[in-house]
Amino acid sequence: MRPYVIVNIAMSADGKISTRERRQVRISGAQDFARVDRLKAACDAVMVGIGTVLADDPSLTIKSEECRRYRRKQGWDDHPVRIVIDSSGRISPEASILNKGEGKRVVVVSKRADASTISLLERKATLIVAGEDEVDLQVLMNELGAMGIHRVLVEGGGTLIAGLIKEGLVNEIYTFIGNVIIGGKDAPTFSDGEGFILESAFPRLSLQEARRIEQGILLHWIVENTYHDSD
Ligand code: NAP
Repeated sequence: MRPYVIVNIAMSADGKISTRERRQVRISGAQDFARVDRLKAACDAVMVGIGTVLADDPSLTIKSEECRRYRRKQGWDDHPVRIVIDSSGRISPEASILNKGEGKRVVVVSKRADASTISLLERKATLIVAGEDEVDLQVLMNELGAMGIHRVLVEGGGTLIAGLIKEGLVNEIYTFIGNVIIGGKDAPTFSDGEGFILESAFPRLSLQEARRIEQGILLHWIVENTYHDSD
């Protein structure tokens, strides 16, 4: 069974998720961080693209003791499985996501990755090979389902999110819009990639909630017509 996929991202008031130099910026505050920690704690896995790992070096661990306690009560590991989408295996074995906190890691490569890279990364993570050139996200989701991963939180970046949306694999979206303007036509946005041209191809969203958090607003969307096995 293919996992249910939730995307969470923080963007500036002008829709940017970082600067044009792809430098990580603080867009949301403590309350939103705590919300994301709880959202993450309720998922089996957290996923990011290699662009985010190279730019931000996130660990994607659960930060609050309360959330980790909740997970232990469910009989789960302290941290969700951490998944990196990385066709040629560019991730450093020293990356925080492969080293900080207990728990399982998965690096997803394509056939582009060479054998020596794979064997090096296998010391730190479970390797999945999916796709010829870039990672085949459909194949990947089926593999994750077979591994017992039923709920995935995607934490960026814009290229991976665009890929997942294009494949119709995103079920739910949280966008926190913060009170800063980043600007720059080349600064990453929520969904980069090639984009859609035909209006009929635009994915449609259904707004579930709009909630003020500190100086920003959280929008919660359901993606319409997204296939999910439990439907
Ligand atoms: P990304 O989305 O994290 O990773 C994209 C990379 O994933 C691709 O370039 C590609 O690299 C790999 N990939 C493999 N198969 C793919 C597929 N089928 N579809 C899409 N991607 C695939 O990178 P990004 O767009 O550069 O985003 C990084 C930026 O986002 C950083 O500046 C970071 O700070 C920002 N960010 C912001 C937030 C926020 O909440 N504000 C959250 C996360 C990230 P290969 O070809 O090498 O495999």
